[in-house]
Amino acid sequence: MKTLGLIGGMSWESTQTYYQLINAGVKQRLGGLNSAKLVLYSVNFAEIEQMQAQGEWLQAAKVLSRAALSLQTAGAEAIMICTNTMHKIAPEIEAVVSVPLLHIADATAMELQQQRIEHVALLGTAFTMEQDFYKQRLLDKGVRVSIPNQPQRAEIHRIIYDELCQGKILPTSRDTFLQVIDSLQQQGAQGVILGCTEIGLLIEQAHTTVPIFDTTAIHAAAAVDWSLH
Ligand code: GLU
Repeated sequence: MKTLGLIGGMSWESTQTYYQLINAGVKQRLGGLNSAKLVLYSVNFAEIEQMQAQGEWLQAAKVLSRAALSLQTAGAEAIMICTNTMHKIAPEIEAVVSVPLLHIADATAMELQQQRIEHVALLGTAFTMEQDFYKQRLLDKGVRVSIPNQPQRAEIHRIIYDELCQGKILPTSRDTFLQVIDSLQQQGAQGVILGCTEIGLLIEQAHTTVPIFDTTAIHAAAAVDWSLH
């Protein structure tokens, strides 16, 4: 089994899900007392969020690159960034380490291809929905991506930072997400990417008939595969 290096804390609400899913995945495959070999570097999300809001992506890249290097020094054989948004600076992180980065959008694209989804809705932070760093990765693999309209995007972004990243799971916000998912399905989306690692705390497959692609679960499963391969 290879050792994984997780950059977490963005937010810790979803990092604990990663920890659980990766360990459960290893146990499911190997049984008994087997558990994942991993190193976790958890940041203070308040500091990172401030950098995001002020557009200080280079500064954020420095912080997360240092984290990645620490993980490598501690024995990590691959790096995972446990958030979709911070994959914006994945190239900067990849440049400083010699071990591979397990990219969340690549794992998601592979899952979409396996399920033969050609047109998908993407929900996440405004950075993830509006900028190219994530969507382009899907488009390059032949997947068409639709995003919510501007007011919907603003509300989703607010719910992520003000509620989900702070452990607040509100039924009214679930209804908002489900309405957005419905409207994107009406525009032709065959599935929806939960492209923020906390959305799975709010929306499960049982809440909608639209196939959901939870990036936390997909990323964790890909990491288990990589670790045991
Ligand atoms: N965890 C979220 C994501 O997957 C949002 C927090 C962040 O900005 O990193 O994008």
